[in-house]
Amino acid sequence: MNKVFSGLPVTVFEAMSQLARDNDAINLGQGFPDDPGPEDIRRAAADAVLNGYNQYPSMMGIPELRQAIATHYAHWHGVNLDPMTEVMVTSGATEALASAILAVTSPGDEVIVFQPVYDSYLPIIRQAGGVPRLVRLEPPHWRITEEALRKVFNHKTKAIVFNNPLNPAAVVYPREDLELLARFCQEYDAVAICDEVWEHVTFDGVEHVPLMSIPGMRDRCIKIGSAGKIFSLTGWKVGFVCAAPPLLRVAAKVHQFLAFTTAPNLQVAVAYGLGKDDDYFLSMRKDLARSRDRLAEGLKQIGFPVIRSQGTYFLTVDLAPLGLSGIVVRIGFCPRWRRDTC
Ligand code: PMP
Repeated sequence: MNKVFSGLPVTVFEAMSQLARDNDAINLGQGFPDDPGPEDIRRAAADAVLNGYNQYPSMMGIPELRQAIATHYAHWHGVNLDPMTEVMVTSGATEALASAILAVTSPGDEVIVFQPVYDSYLPIIRQAGGVPRLVRLEPPHWRITEEALRKVFNHKTKAIVFNNPLNPAAVVYPREDLELLARFCQEYDAVAICDEVWEHVTFDGVEHVPLMSIPGMRDRCIKIGSAGKIFSLTGWKVGFVCAAPPLLRVAAKVHQFLAFTTAPNLQVAVAYGLGKDDDYFLSMRKDLARSRDRLAEGLKQIGFPVIRSQGTYFLTVDLAPLGLSGIVVRIGFCPRWRRDTC
């Protein structure tokens, strides 16, 4: 059957997990906590399964969850969304990203992405016939510069895919960089696909600012979130897409042929979780920061320079002490260390 062929690469998560299995190694390459996740949210999902939420829900997501997403973002980020026309639920951020990229990219369109780049962006952009334009961010600060943007934006630029907080570099972008990016998006009439799945996982009082909240960006951003990251329930694959109605409508057109809908019991539980007190989110950040500090300290003691991690489950070390100059690697930390040993 040599007519069937995929040019798509194997995801880095599959490759690294296989290597970890083959070598009987601890897998710090994939970002998931080895903790069961918040019990009340898991119980809400179990109750919903037993009490009737088992048939196809609305393609756009159950109304309770769309309302909870809108309320949550208004509370945390001051972004006001209409739950019925500006919010859609997807099967994880991965599906949300594919829907958004396939929706806005036509063959020949240029799409700007920032390196280090999250694994799924380039294959989907290419699958849509788009041409990726890469901006290389440099450690240790990974800042966005006007000079770098001038080199890639042009009249063929259709969109940018922007991950903030940035996995794997663990940087949370300051307002100044967001304003710079916003200025370019407006000048070249580009859509911003904003992968903000790590929005709640920020440390040391650093606050995430959604690009959508920057003046002039409200109607040109497709903001993507993930309940898996917010609640450390990575296997749930419940994602959110928030955008002005014309952008949400095109993303929804793709979503109907990808996953169409998402497990309704999980949607009920995520709606419950998003309404939890601020304390829940703030103490989750503190616990993860302790895990980060513990791993960073251990790495420093054995001679690896650790780059500051402002958010995400990851930190990055410089491999120069091993004679590999210019190479940095991402390492995940997890709540298990907090529970057992800190
Ligand atoms: N974007 C980024 C930057 C991520 O780190 C991840 C998960 N590792 C995703 C998207 C995918 O999220 P989900 O599991 O909700 O599909």
